[in-house]
Amino acid sequence: MSASEQGRDAALAKDTDFDALVVGAGFSGIYMLKKLRDDLGLSVQGLEMADDVGGTWYHNKYPGARCDSDSWLYCYDWCDDVQEEWEWTERYPHQPEIQDYISFVAESHDLYKDIEFETKVTSATFDEDSGIWEIETEDGSSYTTQYFIPAVGNLSKPFIPDFDGLEDFEGTWYHTSSWPADGVDMEGKTVGLIGTGSTGIQTMPHLAEESEHLKVFQRTPNWAVPARNRPLEEEEWQELKANYDELWEAARNSDGGLDIEFTHPTADDLSREEAWESLEERWEEGGPLLSVFEDTLINKDTNTLVCEFIAEKIRETIDDPELAEKLIPMDEDGNPEHWYAAKRPPLAYNGYYERFNRDDVELVDVGDNPIARFNADSIVLEDGTEHQIDVLCMATGFDAVTGTLESLNITGRNGQNLEDKWEAGPRTYLGLGTHGFPNMFMITGPQSPSVLTNMVVPIQQHVEWITECLDYMLENGYQHIEAQEDAEEEWAAHNEEVASQTLYPDSASWYRGDNIPGKDQTFLIYPGGINLYNDRIEAVAAENYEGFTLAEAEESQAAD
Ligand code: NAP
Repeated sequence: MSASEQGRDAALAKDTDFDALVVGAGFSGIYMLKKLRDDLGLSVQGLEMADDVGGTWYHNKYPGARCDSDSWLYCYDWCDDVQEEWEWTERYPHQPEIQDYISFVAESHDLYKDIEFETKVTSATFDEDSGIWEIETEDGSSYTTQYFIPAVGNLSKPFIPDFDGLEDFEGTWYHTSSWPADGVDMEGKTVGLIGTGSTGIQTMPHLAEESEHLKVFQRTPNWAVPARNRPLEEEEWQELKANYDELWEAARNSDGGLDIEFTHPTADDLSREEAWESLEERWEEGGPLLSVFEDTLINKDTNTLVCEFIAEKIRETIDDPELAEKLIPMDEDGNPEHWYAAKRPPLAYNGYYERFNRDDVELVDVGDNPIARFNADSIVLEDGTEHQIDVLCMATGFDAVTGTLESLNITGRNGQNLEDKWEAGPRTYLGLGTHGFPNMFMITGPQSPSVLTNMVVPIQQHVEWITECLDYMLENGYQHIEAQEDAEEEWAAHNEEVASQTLYPDSASWYRGDNIPGKDQTFLIYPGGINLYNDRIEAVAAENYEGFTLAEAEESQAAD
């Protein structure tokens, strides 16, 4: 037996059903399965509660669901065979097309056979005596595994506010993430939309189109900018394909996972006219205005200027000046109520603002006059105003980043439950592991760049890092890996420190857990960018996984 075979033999636990078990079959889950199975030769099992692959893109089928990242970078960069055959049809990919893409990749790489569908995980428990994980599912099955990898996404646990009387509402209602695939009949109906985040703004024009009358219940106005989606012409697609490697190289080494060149480092040195000209250019091109000034998220003056620009655009678009002011998140003195992009910046498709000029679309401002309760056929506001509705679209967001992980009922060493451990906010080392939970790896976990970026890029980064880490463990005979407590304390402090240098913490958002009553308000995501983060995780790997404890079988079972 060679040294490496001996290492592998010592590292792999005997008597488990699988070497690795991956929960979730979205972008992260299927790539993780492939790497573990094809690169490392491990026995793998995927568990997925839906009846197909897709993850987020399986569930979010609300009208107009679309990704706000450029399609040519919202896909894997390793999939040459798929790349040859696949053609995105639009700049921003539509939900059914993304779902088809993920399915096409899973089929091309023969991954379906390794996934149990319609299988919901109800608990995952680390057994300290055997050093292995036991995973239980809703149908009463259980699986043992050495490596446990929840690949459950960051926006998978819907948030539905605890509205008084919602159970009495007799109309049809859905959260956007459970909107039926074959749609909802809205013809001749009055539809209510609660929420004006990225989802509400994306779906609003479609609801307006399909209904008789739409009422948009807005608690906080948002800074939406036009997406300017368009079909990808054959010529452009071929050019993108020809430059694919360079595009991906740029994306992987960027801050946000996209191929972006900033127009200016700051607006500070520009006259207002110069700044306006650059903003106007980007506005016409479509997409977030973040690429105009590099310091938008760290410089209040620059950010204020961007907000003023969008406010001017809203005023130009909305016919009724009073209504325009209600749609602008700015106080009477011209101070932004939240900074541009400190809450996830929404893109407007199909003329979001323009729709408010129509008689059949109504803005219901619930900022100062909140929703008090539901009746059988209406929403009643605190001042007693009643709004009759037949159909309700709840675009009220998610218990983001930590919510789904916590609800998996994960128990680590010493009987500690993950939800209890994270009661005062998540503690992770690099968003990859957490102390007390050996051999559990998270993909785009809390305190990693994840949702502040084009998600497929950090997903690939994490899947590849985990694969290399396991390869190292197999080579060297390590059976267990666990984040060290002081390393994760240092990482949490660093995360908060980097966040404090930005404008993110100044604005209430789900990035800070503000949207969930009682959720601890720590900054949930690493805001330093993919490039800096990548340097850090590569350095950790180069130092033999510094900050993690690696142990052989007997050692790890004896550990604290
Ligand atoms: P969200 O950003 O959390 O927005 C939720 C909305 O519901 C907010 O407008 C919020 O108002 C409102 N709301 C919550 N509780 C309410 C209450 N009791 N009364 C009235 N209004 C209430 O959720 P989301 O729009 O679903 O977006 C979540 C994330 O999904 C996005 O930020 C983005 O990352 C992702 N997404 C991605 C894409 C894509 O392109 N890939 C598309 C859509 C969404 P407040 O602002 O006042 O809290």
